[in-house]
Amino acid sequence: MPVKGWIEVDELYCKGCDLCVNACPKQVISLDLNRLTAKGYHPAFLSSEGCTGCAICAIVCPEAALTIYREVPARRAKANV
Ligand code: SF4
Ligand code: SF4
Repeated sequence: MPVKGWIEVDELYCKGCDLCVNACPKQVISLDLNRLTAKGYHPAFLSSEGCTGCAICAIVCPEAALTIYREVPARRAKANV
């Protein structure tokens, strides 16, 4: 089962530079062209499913505007023997 992840964009820092959009191997980030941040930029957002939580987008973001979350799979219960 693929790892499930998601991102949080801090719109106070996002400047709509598109770097994360181009770096995401799953192509699940877009710029929201219908909205502007308080500073006047189109903010990045998770536009579709399939994020793995790989954090590549956060690494390339020059503004450190992205926080990555990754689902931790439940541990398998140990069998009683
Ligand atoms: S790389 Fe960072 S600053 Fe650029 S669009 Fe993505 S979140 Fe915004
Ligand atoms: S964590 Fe990875 S898969 Fe998820 S949005 Fe960022 S680059 Fe894409």
